Amino acid sequence: MAETVNTDMQTRPARSIRFRLLAIALLPTLVILPLLLGITIARWNTKFDALLITKVNGDLTIAHQYLSRILENTGEHIQALAVSAAFRDTVGADETPDLPTFLEKSRLTLGLDFLMLVDDRGQPLISGGQDQGDWPVVKSALGGVPSTAIDIFSNEQLALVSPALAERARIDLVETTNAVPTDRTSETRGMVVHSASPVPLADGGKAALVGGILLNQNLVFIDTINDLVYREASLPEGSRGTATLFLEDVRISTNVRLFEDRRALGTRVSSAVRAAVLDEGRTWLDSAFVVNDWYISAYEPIVDSFGRRVGMLYVGFLETPFRQAKYATLLTIILAFLAVAAVSVPIFLRWARAIFKPLERMSDTITRVEAGNMGARTELKAASDEIGRVAVHLDGLLDQLQQRDRELRQWNDELNDRVAERTSELEHANRQIEATTKQLIMSEKLAAIGEITAGVAHEINNPIAVIQGNLDVVRSVLGSHASEASIEFRLIDEQIHRISQIVTKLLQFAKPEEYAGYVERHAPAGVISDCLPLVQHLLHKAEIALVRDDAATRLVLMNRTELQQVAINLIVNAIHAMPKGGTLTIRTCDQDIDGKPGVAVDIADTGVGMTDELMGRIFDPFFTTKREKGTGLGLSISQRLIARQGGRISAESEPGEGTRFSIWLPEAN
Ligand code: ADP
Ligand code: MG
Repeated sequence: MAETVNTDMQTRPARSIRFRLLAIALLPTLVILPLLLGITIARWNTKFDALLITKVNGDLTIAHQYLSRILENTGEHIQALAVSAAFRDTVGADETPDLPTFLEKSRLTLGLDFLMLVDDRGQPLISGGQDQGDWPVVKSALGGVPSTAIDIFSNEQLALVSPALAERARIDLVETTNAVPTDRTSETRGMVVHSASPVPLADGGKAALVGGILLNQNLVFIDTINDLVYREASLPEGSRGTATLFLEDVRISTNVRLFEDRRALGTRVSSAVRAAVLDEGRTWLDSAFVVNDWYISAYEPIVDSFGRRVGMLYVGFLETPFRQAKYATLLTIILAFLAVAAVSVPIFLRWARAIFKPLERMSDTITRVEAGNMGARTELKAASDEIGRVAVHLDGLLDQLQQRDRELRQWNDELNDRVAERTSELEHANRQIEATTKQLIMSEKLAAIGEITAGVAHEINNPIAVIQGNLDVVRSVLGSHASEASIEFRLIDEQIHRISQIVTKLLQFAKPEEYAGYVERHAPAGVISDCLPLVQHLLHKAEIALVRDDAATRLVLMNRTELQQVAINLIVNAIHAMPKGGTLTIRTCDQDIDGKPGVAVDIADTGVGMTDELMGRIFDPFFTTKREKGTGLGLSISQRLIARQGGRISAESEPGEGTRFSIWLPEAN
């Protein structure tokens, strides 16, 4: 559980620092910058559009002022004419045959489309004119105040003034989408600048000079407005300024083109503009679809002398170039942004990598070390920045850690070795103590037995000598009769001999030093060979096969009789162990023990064998399993004799399988 949490805490910061650094590196360029650019562009776009509207509004103002100026000029001209001396002279004459000529001349001079003189009821003083009595401008003039306004003349009214004007006013309507549907096929009315000025008559009567300009198809007028508003280079390359005069919703004078050179006369304004400007009397400032393209447009209503909205004045310029300029700017900004991003992002990423890579490397290294890989290192090249230095420092610390770990392990191993060593030493010491204890017990026992035996043997020797002596006396007394009991005498002799033998052996056991003769160098195999005839009859009797293997080359130092005694002892024991026959194997070979050269003698049988319990006691004096046949002294004496020469004797046995006694004696120098 604790480990899981630990791993979690290791991996999460490494990843999160990567993402955080990437965010820090990329956020400004890929998020904040585009956001700022977006906001700026959106704002700029709005401002730009507002500016276009402001500009078109300004354009409309200029056009409006020009129209006003036309009205003013016309009024002033007519007024000037009305009060001129020439006019007074002409009108003042009794006969007025010159009046039509004068008026026609004046009309041409003033650039008017019509000019006439009306009486105090508004009736033309010259035949063929139009009745002007109902026009507010004329009424005002007859009242003494010159007045000028826009008025709409019907075609009939125009025809009364001049058939040519009526003809010029006629415009065929062109089918226009988005316009308010209509049944009409042509516009025959005329929009005129209508001006009237009072004329003082000599007889004190009232009259008015009425003149005007027909605006229908008055291309000079509209082109002048256009030139004035959209002077050379006032618009960007590719844009086009346009100006139009509407009678109601019909274009009666315009420089908007339908095709290359055909003006869009007779086309109509869209219903939306019409509703806003003509019906509601508002000024329209917006983008509008004009004839065949989008224009930034401004429309304002034109009011006639009755105060009715009879038409519209329009100016506008093609939107496309501005839009294109806008898009070009936008594209430039986007491209610039992309270029900046393309250049800066890889740099930022590399910087971020330079920070999180070493951090991740360090984190991974620590994880690996914790997983047991003490050799794991960041292996970062010595860098000049802080992280690089930290990484190098970490590697250094890990080196120290590994070194400490190695030392600890070494100490641990050494300690283990030492413990094992001490343990085995202790075991060895224990065994030695055990052996020593055993030896001590044995020597105690031997010492006691030696004491007793020496005494007993001595006590026995005397009676035996008495028995032997008396036996000899009895034999000599009996003389020849003795032969009758020769068998009994022989048995007694034998038994006495046996007793003295046992006593001798007892004494020998008790005080072996006293019996030790001189020592000589012998080849053990030879000594054993000399023993064999002594036991030959026993081997035969028990049908025991003898196997010999004499490989020993070294000599040993020992009393010959004693060595024989040991050998015979072991051979006789082996024969006793094989009552039903078997194989007796005698081997000699050179053998080093504890680095000391020596000779080993093995005497092995295939007899009854011994249990471990039995084995533990066979070297004890008087221990025998043979009842009265054995003395139990053979092996203990053999051990003492061999030990006295610096050798050793040991046995291995398996019940039912057989026994092997091994003697080792040091080599004689
Ligand atoms: P003894 O032969 O007089 O009994 P030893 O000291 O020679 O006394 O032997 C002690 C005892 O060791 C024997 O009684 C016998 O039980 C046992 N022993 C010795 N040698 C052998 C052998 N080769 N096989 C089986 N038992 C043996
Ligand atoms: Mg024996």
